[in-house]
Amino acid sequence: MKITDIRTYLIQVGPRPPAPGATPGESDFRGSRCWCFVKIITDEGIEGVGEGSGWPRVIETAVHDLANVLVGEDPAHIDRLWARMHNATMGHGLIGTVGGGAMTAIEMALWDIKGKVMGQPVWNLLGGRFRDRIPVYGHAKSPAAAHRLTELGYRGIKVSFTGAVNIDKVAAVRDAVGDDVDIMVDAHGPSWMTPGDAIVTARALEPLDLLFFEDPVAPENLDALARVRDGTTIPLAAGERVSTIWGIRPYVERGLVDVIQPDTGRAGGITQMRKMAAMAEGHFITMAPHSGSLGPLAEFAALHVMATIPNALMLERIEFDWPGRYEVVSPVLKVDNGSIAVPDAPGLGVEIVEEEASKYPVTKNVTDMPPDDGWSYEPGTVAEAVYFQTRMRRAARLSLRPTGSAK
Ligand SMILES: [Mg+2]
Repeated sequence: MKITDIRTYLIQVGPRPPAPGATPGESDFRGSRCWCFVKIITDEGIEGVGEGSGWPRVIETAVHDLANVLVGEDPAHIDRLWARMHNATMGHGLIGTVGGGAMTAIEMALWDIKGKVMGQPVWNLLGGRFRDRIPVYGHAKSPAAAHRLTELGYRGIKVSFTGAVNIDKVAAVRDAVGDDVDIMVDAHGPSWMTPGDAIVTARALEPLDLLFFEDPVAPENLDALARVRDGTTIPLAAGERVSTIWGIRPYVERGLVDVIQPDTGRAGGITQMRKMAAMAEGHFITMAPHSGSLGPLAEFAALHVMATIPNALMLERIEFDWPGRYEVVSPVLKVDNGSIAVPDAPGLGVEIVEEEASKYPVTKNVTDMPPDDGWSYEPGTVAEAVYFQTRMRRAARLSLRPTGSAK
């Protein structure tokens, strides 16, 4: 069998309806983004599909560049082709998350082909299943939205600190969902938050019994993360922005987190995800793959990986962002009682609905954070101080006292 072609599908995602339970005008998802699907064509009529996340339009270009390495090759030799792609990116300074996204999409499609050739779901080629269903968690911006998710069966809820720490909001969500639901908080690695601020925040969150506190400081600042680690008992999570085992290595080796969060669309591929999980397993660390940037195709790959590793925790699930999510691939994944069934069809078990995917040509390629959106990119700071905020600005964002007044 030989690879004859690699096609790409770039899809504009949006606009988004309010999530269940959201107040009018509130959306659990903002900005605009794209998804990049790929399809590898072979001379024997078997096709494989994959998805790359990170910077999809750039990933699309990278996929076509890497096609020169792959066309004419036997798709069976996945690791060898991965190594060739990896070496091919050396002239670009190795892969980063964009190259990681491109290699991920291609490698995922190679696994899909192998599964179809063997007549087996990918999980069965990876060693078989630990579990039949994968628990997922959703996102909620308000206690009402969190409660609605629990009514839909979700047993895990993530609350974001988008631009400001808000302990009251987390406490209100805890009150709304009760003690039998896992809550996690994502600070999104704010560069303005010092390690000291992050420690104070983590300690304020400790009584709320979180599953984990995610990206409490800029994830590039590993020494700051180490300080936070030493300053709190709350479990920490990070890793959504890195690719490959070399990207996740310091988080694991230094024991900086309890949970690694590789993104299934840009971690480097299914094998890289498995290797990351094995590294984490050796350090008694769990894995909860990031899905915030993903479309519905890479979710299938995440399910196959999580079915086969002992240290799978939960899968992030963006469910209420865009109705097209349920049109551009087939079949559609369904959350039932807080979990998703592991696919059983040969390969990944998903196909691109090309007619639907072609309806959404890309018009916007980056997520737009408006200045009044509560993020750190504010008027007067963008030009001279994007990454740092004054003490007064940080104080305005910390709001740690349990006053009951949400900021
Ligand atoms: Mg995150």
